[in-house]
Amino acid sequence: MAISEKIVLEKHDTENEQMYLKAIWLLEEDKVNPIHASEVAKLLKISLPSTVEMLKKLDSKGLLKYSGREGILLNKPKGRKIAETVVRNLRLAELLFRDVLKIDPNSDSVCRFEHVITDEMAGAIRKLLGNPQKCPHGKAIPVL
Ligand SMILES: [Zn+2]
Repeated sequence: MAISEKIVLEKHDTENEQMYLKAIWLLEEDKVNPIHASEVAKLLKISLPSTVEMLKKLDSKGLLKYSGREGILLNKPKGRKIAETVVRNLRLAELLFRDVLKIDPNSDSVCRFEHVITDEMAGAIRKLLGNPQKCPHGKAIPVL
């Protein structure tokens, strides 16, 4: 495998993990308790077996706690930090798209963009937008 191919795959891997962690964080925000794999699968529109496989992987990487009975606990600092970072990026991106770029904040482009925003970029976007507290959907923007 060419090196560039490997990098693309690893990047894809990370983005995929971020999507799961974000989904679990959003379910938690919506007070879903306990959070089961089926809820995550539904939210991400991914099959239940694939979701379970990924949850086991995230558990083995120490990013969350997953058990079939008790569900998913986003109780690992590293996993929470990744989830909160992606949610922050998502909500800042929604505002940036709507207010500056004049792109629909519900566009798929937001979902692409949220994974490439660094802390430095997030800080600059926040400043540019006048330190907003809420996204276009009225949800709080996490501060890390
Ligand atoms: Zn939003």
